[in-house]
Amino acid sequence: MRLSALLATFTLFASSTALANCPGSIAFGTAASRGPQVADRLLDGRCLSAHLADAVGRDPTPDERFIAVASLASRWAEDGVLSRKEAAALMSAARDATVANTVKLRVLAFNDFHGHLDGSRLMVNSPIDGIHTAPAGGIAHLAGLVRELRTGMPDTVVVSAGDLIGASPMESAFFHDEPTIEAMNLLGLDFSAVGNHEFDDGLLELLRMQRGGCHPGGQHTCQGASVGSPVPFSGALFDFLAANVRDEHGNTLFPSYGIRTVGDIRVAFVGVALSSTPRVVNPAGVAGLRFEDEADTINSVAADLRRRGIQAIVVLLHEGGRTEGSINDCTGMQGPVVDIVSRLDDAVDLVVSGHTHHAYVCRLPKRSGQPVTVTSAGSAGRLLTRIDLTLDRQSRDVVAADARNLVVERDPSRTPILPDASTATLLAAYTALAEPIARRPVAQLGAALTRSPNAAGESPLGNVIADAHWETTLLPQAGASVAAFTNPGGMRGDLLPAADGSVTYADLFRIQPFGNTLIITTLSGRQLYEVLAQQWTSGRVLQVSSSVSYRYRELPGQPGPASREVCPGSLKIGGRPVVADADYRIAVNSYLAAGGDGFSTFSQGRDSQGGPLDVDALAAYLAHLGTVKPPALKRIQKVERCD
Ligand SMILES: [Zn+2]
Repeated sequence: MRLSALLATFTLFASSTALANCPGSIAFGTAASRGPQVADRLLDGRCLSAHLADAVGRDPTPDERFIAVASLASRWAEDGVLSRKEAAALMSAARDATVANTVKLRVLAFNDFHGHLDGSRLMVNSPIDGIHTAPAGGIAHLAGLVRELRTGMPDTVVVSAGDLIGASPMESAFFHDEPTIEAMNLLGLDFSAVGNHEFDDGLLELLRMQRGGCHPGGQHTCQGASVGSPVPFSGALFDFLAANVRDEHGNTLFPSYGIRTVGDIRVAFVGVALSSTPRVVNPAGVAGLRFEDEADTINSVAADLRRRGIQAIVVLLHEGGRTEGSINDCTGMQGPVVDIVSRLDDAVDLVVSGHTHHAYVCRLPKRSGQPVTVTSAGSAGRLLTRIDLTLDRQSRDVVAADARNLVVERDPSRTPILPDASTATLLAAYTALAEPIARRPVAQLGAALTRSPNAAGESPLGNVIADAHWETTLLPQAGASVAAFTNPGGMRGDLLPAADGSVTYADLFRIQPFGNTLIITTLSGRQLYEVLAQQWTSGRVLQVSSSVSYRYRELPGQPGPASREVCPGSLKIGGRPVVADADYRIAVNSYLAAGGDGFSTFSQGRDSQGGPLDVDALAAYLAHLGTVKPPALKRIQKVERCD
């Protein structure tokens, strides 16, 4: 692709007119001080600078520019128009000029989209940026903003840093995430790193997302005739990338990188998955696959790219960090991405990160101490990161990266975005197909399951969800759990039956909207007591499966978080007292497993493996029960005295 209008090319300052006098020096670029200090002069009715501009032409490569200048300068030296010294000065300036010798590449990036096509309930909240719970996101507005930012920027690449699919809302999840892939084809996504959630339904299903074809289950797949997309399902028109995921033969599952060419400069986009993916997804889905260290992989791919003459290297990394400031700064940055970047080779020019769902724009030091721009656009397509890369035509490398997170505004009274029609139509068609499925009854409730806790902190809905998590993970191949713990904050409402007693998929999605998966992990008895003690500092009583019971008391005269204690010896699993040094397999959701809500001890679990989505576990459990009665609240007891 040739650039024309966009290109700030080799320019000659004094080349204004064909007037008899040619003022000033012949200059390269915009900074006169970088010029060769050779006085311009008239030759055959035109200034030397105008002759040079003609000879160099538009959009030259560094070699073309040098050859054009050198041949003119040497002829002029022979003809006595220039001194030898002046000719040499012109040539070396032509060789070294970097000013105004750059091209732009716009990178539009997002991460952790998670199939959020419908933006009607999505919000962004960042008071420090003056954003107070503003409606944001949705595929039509995201695609609309992408189109707007492409305008006048023919060299634009759209990238995702993983978790594009998986843990999706109904409009995508019901159709095996085919809607999201089709919507991204329309939006013009170029590359997506593979995240951990891409493996939620296993490797074969991920390969189908790339290559196309119908889901082998045959249900809710290949809906193209109803929604106006290709039949059978076409698969992604963009490339999934994963440099650090290998099969048993040592081959990468997907390409390690993709290339875009700007003018004559090649830019590589390297995709890297979360190295700890096997600890957070269902083992069956990643059987036989090896997930390698992120930094080592990036450095080795970067070395390979350099050997091929590619200097501009962008990394799409499905791992990130946590910040607490503006969506456009780096306040309080911590997390795995800091360590990964600190081990990176200087060849890396930009890191688009993800996984933590935090939004930031950082400059983090690489191994040499040189900083690199590291971005994340939060999650669910509510933000889009606009990154303008300046590429030097001589070094063919990135010399500057200007990054900013933009809100995908859905409120027309703010910065209006013209929604994209094609993705809006696709979403509307899938929503219409999803409605009857969402309204299908899953089970009958004898009474409402509320999340209101009793005096001890236990609730009917909490008990049912914890039981669902335990039942789903108790078989040996499913993780062999003996108990489940879940956080009350993970329940977003009461489960209320319709007049006929039924509850539907839509009801379940409403109370479990976070897309958390189940994680089965091993803690010692001592750590289980520690987890329960963390309840008093976090102010949240965990909901426990029917296999768990314990008592706790208020300590007299000690107000505040330290005022409670679990009665020693009272914690039982399966009716037996928990022993400090024994190991217990337990199930929690992925939020708790990462230490969420202050339950840091869960993050110390060993031999972790992943399970299904929480909402799927709940649906299967309720469907299996058929009719659900609110369980008795007798698992946790608050007592006056422990003896
Ligand atoms: Zn992730």
